[in-house]
Amino acid sequence: MKGVLKAVKKGRGGVDIAHNKNTAEMPVVRITPPPFVEIPMRQSIGAECEPTVKAGDRVKIGQLIGDSAAYVSAPVYASVSGTVTGIKDIELSTGVVSKTVIIESDGLMEEDSFQPPKVSDTKSFIAAIRASGLVGLGGAGFPAHVKLNLPQEAEIDTLIINAAECEPYITVDYRECLENSENIMRGVSAVKKYLNIDRVVIAVENNKPKAIEILSEIADKSGENVRVMQLKSRYPQGAEKMIILSATGRKIPPGKLPSDVGCVVMNVASIAFVGRHLATGKPLVSRSMTVDGSAVKNPMNVRVPVGTMMDYIIDFCGGFTCEPEKIVCGGPMMGTALIGINFPVLKGNNALLAFCEGDCAVKKETDCIRCGRCAASCPLSLVPTNVEKFLKAKDVKKLKHAGAAVCMECGSCAYSCPAGKPLVQYMRLAKAMIREGEAK
Ligand code: SF4
Ligand code: SF4
Repeated sequence: MKGVLKAVKKGRGGVDIAHNKNTAEMPVVRITPPPFVEIPMRQSIGAECEPTVKAGDRVKIGQLIGDSAAYVSAPVYASVSGTVTGIKDIELSTGVVSKTVIIESDGLMEEDSFQPPKVSDTKSFIAAIRASGLVGLGGAGFPAHVKLNLPQEAEIDTLIINAAECEPYITVDYRECLENSENIMRGVSAVKKYLNIDRVVIAVENNKPKAIEILSEIADKSGENVRVMQLKSRYPQGAEKMIILSATGRKIPPGKLPSDVGCVVMNVASIAFVGRHLATGKPLVSRSMTVDGSAVKNPMNVRVPVGTMMDYIIDFCGGFTCEPEKIVCGGPMMGTALIGINFPVLKGNNALLAFCEGDCAVKKETDCIRCGRCAASCPLSLVPTNVEKFLKAKDVKKLKHAGAAVCMECGSCAYSCPAGKPLVQYMRLAKAMIREGEAK
């Protein structure tokens, strides 16, 4: 055994938070097929797709139902077999409105026929990734073919597989490591080969010893330059900038990308999907999600067709134990609070959490006591109190100078603030003010 690597460099800031990985030892369960799905055409940070089907069409799983000519976009596929009953505009959990294809399931879950894609070089590999419909499964929603289509001048020497999963509650990446390590390694080998990357680091937090063991074994067997790296379990270890620093010691300068420091970072579920797709040709039609929180009767990890309604998923998990005070799509630190559960699951949704009153109390805001904890916990060395001051003074120049635009909205500052200041919201407002100022 080659042994597990230790982090190259320790990042600054961050917070120690309760992990609450209650579902870690629960294998992913395939949900019973939903009676219908609502599949939005806007599932990436790129352009909205145009439906390629119309009401009355019969579809099978994996059949194309939406695509776009725009480069930054990813095609969308049917996730159940059945009949298209309509196309309508709906509001998504992200707050945006999207054209959405409604498919009534025939209950058969019949698949289209798939062939493994023919991949022989970088171009055909990128084309296969685009055709698969993959967007970042860690929640970013960035089309994977765009991320992997590196500029010619980029000198990439390290592929980092992000298996840190530092957000509390979420355990689907961990389950991916345990249940799909072969696909992870197949995906790793393909990206390494077709992007001509010399070495691979699979970065895992040290609170996941089983994942470290399994991945180390399979990395050793691969005979390739692939090593597992054990990272200190500290939020937000899985943030792109943090994981690059921990794995390579390199800092991404403001406004630059991972490729500018020789790295490509992929989420572990995304790389497992790449491995599976290359072996089968099946596009992205379902995803794994952690369903947890004190308001959920039977927390579990589920595999759901894209477009399944969240209320159907909650019913599958036994319903609510109370009237939830807070519902979150994603993790409690960086997820989006929802006003309800009448939303379809998107490709990038990795968790649905719901909490009873008392388990998600929001601190009452009081005056700043100038303790400095917010600045001390910021991994990017920002000073949130300065940003608040410049925001209130509407001073765009000083906001830019304070680095508000690079904030990754990790929430470490707000989490550590004893005065309950909504510091992340200030950061978001500051970024919007900077954008507006630049647009003038
Ligand atoms: S200022 Fe931004 S990057 Fe820094 S801790 Fe707060 S949310 Fe995270
Ligand atoms: S952590 Fe809160 S109370 Fe302390 S300096 Fe920052 S804003 Fe003020």
